[in-house]
Amino acid sequence: MPDAKGATHLDIADDTVAKVQHALLSWFEAAGRRLPWRGATDAYAILVSEVMLQQTQVDRVIPAYHAFLRRFPTFESLAEAPTADVIREWAGMGYNRRALNLQRAAQAVVERHGGELPADPGALRALPGVGEYTANALACFALGQQTAVVDTNVRRVLGRVFHWPSTPSEREAAETARRVLPKGEAWAWNQALMDLGATVCTSRRPTCLLCPLRELCPASGAFEAEPAAIAEGRGAYRPKTERFEGSSRFYRGRVVAHLRGLAAGESCGVDDLGAALKADYSDADATWLRALLEGLARDGLVALHGEGDGARVSLP
Ligand code: SF4
Repeated sequence: MPDAKGATHLDIADDTVAKVQHALLSWFEAAGRRLPWRGATDAYAILVSEVMLQQTQVDRVIPAYHAFLRRFPTFESLAEAPTADVIREWAGMGYNRRALNLQRAAQAVVERHGGELPADPGALRALPGVGEYTANALACFALGQQTAVVDTNVRRVLGRVFHWPSTPSEREAAETARRVLPKGEAWAWNQALMDLGATVCTSRRPTCLLCPLRELCPASGAFEAEPAAIAEGRGAYRPKTERFEGSSRFYRGRVVAHLRGLAAGESCGVDDLGAALKADYSDADATWLRALLEGLARDGLVALHGEGDGARVSLP
């Protein structure tokens, strides 16, 4: 609970922490997912995996991760590549701005850090597309630092095991994560928490009966006794959902997907693009489409050539 100064205190017995650490690390050793980036020692490959995993499911990331590394195997090769090639290679991943940020991060590593991922947390967070979570993940997974890493899955697991029936704020979860981090085991511990949250302690249907923390977790009884309590019944960790089809993000993705289909260096007319996006595209849509394209151009995802009837668009 926060005190008068806003500080938080977590009262967890050391032996409880030790038991949870032992149970979870043993489970991870036996049952942890064998993911390709977990065997990687190359900081560049780990950066690629972390950026891909930000908003894409593991199953889709695995083949894309291998293909991307084949095409751009080093910070240098990605930094020097034509941006259009990077956007093309990102096909199927969604959230295309990540591809740009990844290339800009590679350029920053090459230009500002001599081709090595910086060890300083502030320098990591200054890389394009690297927020608090990704900076911590890189510090731990790529640089071997003893850093707690808290994503949605980790926050949920820590909340159920150490805060139940309360829901920790982000700040409280981060404090708990630091408090329970086992010395010298940060890599395995963070991966184990993520795996448990992704495969056993899921938001809607935690399988407490199969959980290595069942005997230690105050939340297990609630889920076993009352399935309706699943996901806390309060939506504490549920992301807001909004209709995707027809949204600006939907059409931005479709523009980039259409331009990916053009040959290298080729452009298409803006009206032709409109017709490819919407079967009923008409002059009334021209202002909307122009604004959409200008937004994409500002983000660096497309290049606009000319104005009016002759305007054309291409990948950058
Ligand atoms: S016992 Fe259930 S609620 Fe507790 S950590 Fe395991 S799966 Fe999650």
